[in-house]
Amino acid sequence: MGGYSSGRVGWRAKCENLLSIDVRRWARGGNLSRRYFGWQWTINGDRTCTIGVYTSDNHIELAYTKDGEQYRYPVRLTYTPCYLGGARRWFVCPSVRCQRRAAKLYLGSRYFACRRCYNLAYQSQCYSHHDRALTQAGKIRLKLDGEEGIAWPFPDKPKRMRWRTYERLRKRCEQHEGIANERLLNLAARWLE
Ligand SMILES: [Zn+2]
Repeated sequence: MGGYSSGRVGWRAKCENLLSIDVRRWARGGNLSRRYFGWQWTINGDRTCTIGVYTSDNHIELAYTKDGEQYRYPVRLTYTPCYLGGARRWFVCPSVRCQRRAAKLYLGSRYFACRRCYNLAYQSQCYSHHDRALTQAGKIRLKLDGEEGIAWPFPDKPKRMRWRTYERLRKRCEQHEGIANERLLNLAARWLE
């Protein structure tokens, strides 16, 4: 697979290491009222990276090429009313197991997803059952030389590990992530009320 996950055990992603898109910046800049726009980053002063963005009322479509693969998929938009009037824009994280609203999405090995999905140096203020489950799942993924967040593919079996051990860890990780997702679905339901 190459890229971010190659051989860096226990490496924890930091926000500034990943490309990100910011819905508020786009809303302020008038980008979201255009049918299409290109968005570009400059890396280390020279290398650039560009994505195409098609917009419509309630979603955008991201189009880009990464590591030789072409991607194009929709990201839903939503908004919440502001206290002083008007509305605040949000992305809905396109990770099917997440669907949380987020102001920013980050590009991991393949897809854009929220910081939670990529476990980006997340500092939890109230450490809930859900957060603990996510932390436990992350520990298992690290043990298997993988990345912590649920948006990353589940890591392959390390060479010296027995299959039985691997399957046991995988099952446990799925249980933890199931708890985490249940909480996310409850939160999503509350937002819809
Ligand atoms: Zn997410």
